[in-house]
Amino acid sequence: MPRFRAILDTMPAYRAGKAVVSADGRSYKLSSNESPYEPLPSVVEAVARAATQMHRYPDPAATELTGAIAERYGVPAEHVALGAGSVTVAQQLFETVSEPGVEVIYAWRSFEAYPLLADLAGATSVRVPLLGETHHLEAMADAITPHTRMIFVCNPNNPTGTVVHAAELEAFLDRVPESVLVVLDEAYREYVRDAGVTDGLTVYRDRPNVAVLRTFSKAYGLAGLRVGYLIADEPVASAVRKTIVPFAVNHLAQAAAIASLAAEDELMERVDAVVKERDRVREALVAQGWEVPVSEANFVWLRLGERTLDFAESCATEGVAVRPFAGEGARVSIGDPEANDTFLAAASAFWSA
Ligand code: PMP
Repeated sequence: MPRFRAILDTMPAYRAGKAVVSADGRSYKLSSNESPYEPLPSVVEAVARAATQMHRYPDPAATELTGAIAERYGVPAEHVALGAGSVTVAQQLFETVSEPGVEVIYAWRSFEAYPLLADLAGATSVRVPLLGETHHLEAMADAITPHTRMIFVCNPNNPTGTVVHAAELEAFLDRVPESVLVVLDEAYREYVRDAGVTDGLTVYRDRPNVAVLRTFSKAYGLAGLRVGYLIADEPVASAVRKTIVPFAVNHLAQAAAIASLAAEDELMERVDAVVKERDRVREALVAQGWEVPVSEANFVWLRLGERTLDFAESCATEGVAVRPFAGEGARVSIGDPEANDTFLAAASAFWSA
């Protein structure tokens, strides 16, 4: 048998959210924080036009998309680095900083990919437990050692939906040495309505060691096409660009992302509707008796402890797929009103059972 890296023996595989179907054929996938909306016709048309050129390699530098992102956020194009989904950009970040002995700090529980990417890149994970359901930034700063090279702050946090606020983030960043890269993972930024949460893009302008990670997968509804990006000072962005696998962001994905930026107003109306549903779902859960942290993302978090898998199972019988984290809790994405109502009925039945 061929020999593999030892780390593969102990690394868990990434568990993607799956769909389930009820006995009477209903299926509501609330397990991957996707947009519940089908793509806009203008985006489908852009992809169809791009498809006529798919015998050609894509623009390796994604010049037009990079320019469109730079223009959208008022940043220089050199500050933008693209990847096939922001998880790939996160992987590139790990590749950029990792060497044996290098430590990367992140909160736990947070985005499941961080420990996998750390293992793959050969970095040492330093997990700092959440305080309640929120990042414990003071403890994260306390965890910095001379070996620390990168810190992830997932804001809002996946899977709890909680946020860190401007003053605590600034106080934290003041404690981080300039040699340590702080990545603000803002995959769910567009769903934030709490005015006390800083936009990472205002923070990075004054801090050369801060990088902002964003994605087209959630609010822009392109999860299936894989486009994510980083915005950071030029040295960080160019180091990350060096780690990209050539042609990672394909031609159709580039075209779809450009068309999505052009249709942003319409897409953000959809985000507003999801935010309204999120708040409705949370309030209904609280009225049922559940304790649900305020979510600034497109999902809610139920801390169920030992009942987590039973809860997921009981939602599945109604055709509702949620994302269980055994022994901890379940993350439930906000879907369309019918999906949300079906989930709320399942949650209510579980509560009263
Ligand atoms: N960051 C966070 C916090 C996420 O939750 C996700 C997706 N679940 C990602 C990054 C990656 O998303 P994508 O690769 O689709 O851009």
